[in-house]
Amino acid sequence: MKTQTYFIESFGCQMNQSDSERIAGQLESLGYVHCDQHGNADIIVINTCCVRESAESRIWGHIGALKHIKEQNPATIIIIAGCMAQKDQQSIFRRAPHVNIVLGTQNIDRLADILQDAQPKKKLLESGMFDDDGLGQEAGQKKHQGISAWIPIMYGCDNYCSYCIVPYVRGSERSRPFDMVLAEAQAFARAGGQEITLLGQNVNSYGKNLPDNWNFPRLLQKIDREAGIPRIRFMTSHPKDFGAELIEVMASGKNICEHLHLPVQSGCDEILQRMNRHYSTETYRRHIGQLRSAIPDISITTDIIVGFPGETDEMFEQTLAFMAEIKFDAAFTFLYSKRSGTPAATMEEQIPLAIKKSRLKRLMDLQNSISLAANQYWVGKSVEVLADGPSKTDPSVFSGRTRQNKIVLWPATPADFPGNTRLLQIMSAQTFLLRGEAVVERKD
Ligand code: SF4
Repeated sequence: MKTQTYFIESFGCQMNQSDSERIAGQLESLGYVHCDQHGNADIIVINTCCVRESAESRIWGHIGALKHIKEQNPATIIIIAGCMAQKDQQSIFRRAPHVNIVLGTQNIDRLADILQDAQPKKKLLESGMFDDDGLGQEAGQKKHQGISAWIPIMYGCDNYCSYCIVPYVRGSERSRPFDMVLAEAQAFARAGGQEITLLGQNVNSYGKNLPDNWNFPRLLQKIDREAGIPRIRFMTSHPKDFGAELIEVMASGKNICEHLHLPVQSGCDEILQRMNRHYSTETYRRHIGQLRSAIPDISITTDIIVGFPGETDEMFEQTLAFMAEIKFDAAFTFLYSKRSGTPAATMEEQIPLAIKKSRLKRLMDLQNSISLAANQYWVGKSVEVLADGPSKTDPSVFSGRTRQNKIVLWPATPADFPGNTRLLQIMSAQTFLLRGEAVVERKD
């Protein structure tokens, strides 16, 4: 009998990548095998993202392009999953009648049941109700492979930042029980895993729905002590829920990496209020001061949105000054773009695109100079690097990351393989990476 195959194309954030693993796990439990091309697949999954309207338009194009595959092979099952599926269930079937299953973010763990129970060729519309989605059943967990894995610790978000669609499409926060998270991390360690990233829209609010006062610092400490994973990371942290208990756990942990991604979004308090972020620049500044005192070599990265509705030149200058003061190791910078269905989309004083673009360029120029200086700090120092593999552009060079999540390139040797931990001396620094050489240990 012919082996049944599946193909998944995943858009958007790490949470979507993680959801794709849950989908893959269920399909593999039904006997399907992964394939690299949708033209050969019996099941095609598009795991969608709707955070930006421009990305959504592109995904509609992908969905439309699957029509000819369906015409050539009517038995192909086409599944649209993820945030667009949660938001646009009816319109997906209307605009793309070749789609078989629309699987909202709340129903991902039910895919195996849907496939087993239903006539595959019959169109299925999942309710998408924001009810319990099977947390605790772990229906969809795929075995992690390789050296690094994303491990979700919670789903959904209760924060309703005024520019963000996520709470509307991923529902309210639900935390996974700590023993499931720990068991998943331990299984990955037994399989040779070297690095995990604990994942949630706001990991700092982990545990709100759990008994026994579980919170994120307790979970992180437990994973650090009991998972057996040499490198532990987490994202995303929300500054309003960040605090001393977590800093203490990070500073005293053995395997917790010296890196924090803490999105500030703006350096202007008035804009932070309009964004509904519930912290001030002063609170953020205090967190950074405490972190750097407790963990001197920590690297700190952030997200910034420029051109939020109502942002004046003066407010933007405040953001530039804040960036120059905090000196982030790196910043992911975004132009504000309207996301319909969110409060910010209907705010007055939308900023013209030309102004947003010019502000973004100034911000990136400033950040690039700060990132270069932050990387130059490492020149001459010895660092522990976890090898990822040969560089994609030059196989004679190996690539890996420090505990601070800095990319390092070095001349490949026969001793290099993915998952190996090397001690390297940093020889030079660029804006986005470091270059190193293997440290030769003296024999005398
Ligand atoms: S914390 Fe804010 S930006 Fe992050 S997912 Fe929740 S609503 Fe969106």
